[in-house]
Amino acid sequence: MRLVLMGMPGVGKGTQATRLSESLGVVHLSTGDILRDAVKAGMSLGLKAKDAMASGKLVTDKLIGDMISKRLAQHDVEGGFILDGFPRTVEQVAILDRVLEQRGVRLDRVILLGASEQEIVRRLSGRRVCESCGAVYRVESKSSSKGEACERCEGALVQRPDDTEEVIRERLRVYREQTLPIADAYKKRGLLIKVEGTGAPEEVFERLQAELVAA
Ligand code: AMP
Repeated sequence: MRLVLMGMPGVGKGTQATRLSESLGVVHLSTGDILRDAVKAGMSLGLKAKDAMASGKLVTDKLIGDMISKRLAQHDVEGGFILDGFPRTVEQVAILDRVLEQRGVRLDRVILLGASEQEIVRRLSGRRVCESCGAVYRVESKSSSKGEACERCEGALVQRPDDTEEVIRERLRVYREQTLPIADAYKKRGLLIKVEGTGAPEEVFERLQAELVAA
């Protein structure tokens, strides 16, 4: 299976992509995670991406295109993948088309996870992530039993620098203007499946699996 999982920031793409990659046995590729790792490691990719990320803007298509082309050339993705957070612009759709064509493969489905903006702002402002392992917690509904420390590795729980209200609003604006139009492009190709992303992660996952089987 070769899938794209798209939706507003904070809709639960990461959580659902992780579950789906386990159940389908394919690689989960999150461009946001790759970039955050590069920032943490002080790599030149991270240095180039850091400012755009902190302000809620998109990193350039060229930077993302080079990064994803290299990643999709690795052997582990031959059995399939779930792209989480890519493509995000019309140009990135064209980049992905070119990369897949070179490899002689096609996308199977594009899943659009939906939620209201109000719900997204509420969720993202209450999101906390472990500085060491990246585990995600929620202030309201899924707090750590170890307080300010991660249950898995005891790392410190912090707010992502782009999860402040001002930056969240900017990320949502960028999503509406640059990313949402690509859902239409995939709809025209008959690849799009819409899944309601509100509710407990288990419920959303069940819905998502049912839609994938039915498609
Ligand atoms: P995410 O974790 O997917 O919300 O990504 C965090 C940030 O990384 C975004 O706000 C962008 O600055 C950058 N980013 C991640 N994926 C992309 C992409 N496909 N195109 C451009 N910028 C991206």
